[in-house]
Amino acid sequence: MSENEKVHCLIIGSGPAGYTAAIYASRANLNPVLYQGIQPGGQLTITTEVENYPGYPNGIMGPQMMVDFEQQAQRMGADIRWGMVTKVDLSQRPFKAEIDEEKWIEADAIIIATGASAKWLGLPSEERLNGHGVSACAVCDGFFFKGQEVAIVGAGDTACEEALYLSKLCSTVHMLVRRGEMRASKVMQDRVLKTANIKVYWNTDPVEVLGEHKVDSMRIRNNQTGEETVVPLKAFFVAIGHKPNSDLFTGMLDMDEQGYLITQPGSSRTNIEGVFACGDVQDKIYRQAVSAAGSGCMAALDAERYLGALEH
Ligand code: NDP
Repeated sequence: MSENEKVHCLIIGSGPAGYTAAIYASRANLNPVLYQGIQPGGQLTITTEVENYPGYPNGIMGPQMMVDFEQQAQRMGADIRWGMVTKVDLSQRPFKAEIDEEKWIEADAIIIATGASAKWLGLPSEERLNGHGVSACAVCDGFFFKGQEVAIVGAGDTACEEALYLSKLCSTVHMLVRRGEMRASKVMQDRVLKTANIKVYWNTDPVEVLGEHKVDSMRIRNNQTGEETVVPLKAFFVAIGHKPNSDLFTGMLDMDEQGYLITQPGSSRTNIEGVFACGDVQDKIYRQAVSAAGSGCMAALDAERYLGALEH
């Protein structure tokens, strides 16, 4: 253990929250080390245009925005590393984090910005055909199904956004909505309902994705009448929300019943002093790039205060 690298401020995660924390922590001379995780740039790397992030009057592509964030953090001096934090030990100070199941590093403070990941339905056929026509990212995979029939399940803003995206590429988008109404904002619903090649199936559940090696159709069921239908299609997109990436901290940090980390109101402080959380892993309400970035700023300022107090 004596050879462990020791860092002052460890940041876990590389979405808007993690990079913003890195920018602020660098400027406060905390010499932050940031591990990017399995998806450098986070969820914004699988979106198209971001129109609601202030400072980009003409909009910006999500992946480019994350490159900009990373470059800014690097320019401020953040040490940004490719790698996963695979375990943590928060039981004593300095805290310890295992990297890529290979080495441990020690940290005086930790900022958690691990974000959230797409949820799956849990159908065996969904898992079997994942990557062979089943996807949780229309923006990543829609292109492969140009001119074909596809389906999407979900009725939130993400599902509507992705259905609209797919409608521009694919011949027909079958949209499965499990209730008689959508959760999405009115403006998104209206856009979907006005798009001629999006066919909305109300009160409908996916039963099974069919196809031997790749998707060729899908069995759906109307949950009011029980009627089942097989719809021919080439791809099935799942857009039913997200799960916070907090498994690493189970049993150590306070979480709500869905696994979102609990921070003290008006701060990024978790129940362990010196461990801070920001972005989607602790936010199930706003979940925006700009609110994640704002909370990353809060976490760095909280860490700066904490580390400053340790030194005096
Ligand atoms: P949401 O949690 O808002 O919606 C999830 C949707 O999936 C709901 O319609 C839900 O149905 C449905 N669903 C969940 N589980 C199942 C299941 N097992 N079978 C079928 N359907 C299921 O997630 P989103 O990812 O859409 O959005 C997350 C947040 O991000 C929201 O706050 C949203 O407003 C925001 N957002 C904003 C955007 C924008 O402003 N442009 C774009 C994308 C997201 P039910 O309604 O019945 O529960």
